[in-house]
Amino acid sequence: MSQSAPEYALAAHPTSVGDAGSSTKPVRVTPTLVFGDRDVVVAAGPCSVEGYDMLLASARHVQSAGGTLLRGGAFKPRTSPYAFQGLGEEGLLLLASVREQTGMPIVTEVMDTRQVARVAQIADVIQVGARNMQNFPLLAELGRAGKPVLLKRGASARISELLLAAEYVMANGNERVILCERGIRTFETITRNTLDISAIPVLKAETHLPVIVDPSHAGGRADLVLPLALAAIAAGADGLIVEVHPNPSVARSDADQQLTFAQFSELMDSISLIATASNRTIRPQVASHVVQNVAATPDSSSHDVRRREVVAA
Ligand code: PEP
Ligand code: MN
Repeated sequence: MSQSAPEYALAAHPTSVGDAGSSTKPVRVTPTLVFGDRDVVVAAGPCSVEGYDMLLASARHVQSAGGTLLRGGAFKPRTSPYAFQGLGEEGLLLLASVREQTGMPIVTEVMDTRQVARVAQIADVIQVGARNMQNFPLLAELGRAGKPVLLKRGASARISELLLAAEYVMANGNERVILCERGIRTFETITRNTLDISAIPVLKAETHLPVIVDPSHAGGRADLVLPLALAAIAAGADGLIVEVHPNPSVARSDADQQLTFAQFSELMDSISLIATASNRTIRPQVASHVVQNVAATPDSSSHDVRRREVVAA
């Protein structure tokens, strides 16, 4: 860091960490799921939880293709207040139900301090979205919530500000923070954001925290997800978080950037080549037991997709 840069008490690069040759200190989510180890971890699923059937289908596909974590937003940060805001509590219950069916841990976003206790009961990893990266009371509350935090970089945040946001979580008692580069706002308008590839090696050098990349929100276009994902893994990212939907064209949020199941399978095949080339693996880390006898699952078919929202996220 330059002399004028802020000091980090906890997020800074420690002297002794991780595996030999790695400066990253792994963050354990479950006994079999670890970020920042040799494995490349892939979280994937729909932008928003829209219903039970679409969520279960997404989870099963992601899992069969080698994804480890199921993503899905129950509380959605939308630029327009008239856009679909997520299913809220019902969405959380659907996530819990699909985890029971598949054994997949879940990552879902929290937007408000008042939601933290409830989201922490359900989520295996709690996501802080780009819009909330500097919501300091929320970060502090997550420091006390006892669950790993996936902290996304704000669209206009400097790397130093991302690290200080992580510091807020850590200083309040939670050192299980995973950083996520998801594109920043630049003068370019052809892409939704501009993926800051350089943030990956810079963060890996500055901090011991695992660093993952979201190629979906970075490019904002399904056709860009694969090349951006390849670049991210080649640049040393510890994982990806990717949007996948059974029928992206009718998704209730971020329709333009969600991958079909076939596209996601192709992505997994391609990134595993890059991972292998950099002496890493993409190993499915599915829980050893999957609960078979699940109580009646909620009938949420009424929430399954019907129309595409025209208002951007
Ligand atoms: C999301 O992952 O659903 C999301 C809203 O991403 P971001 O906060 O990066 O915009
Ligand atoms: Mn999205």
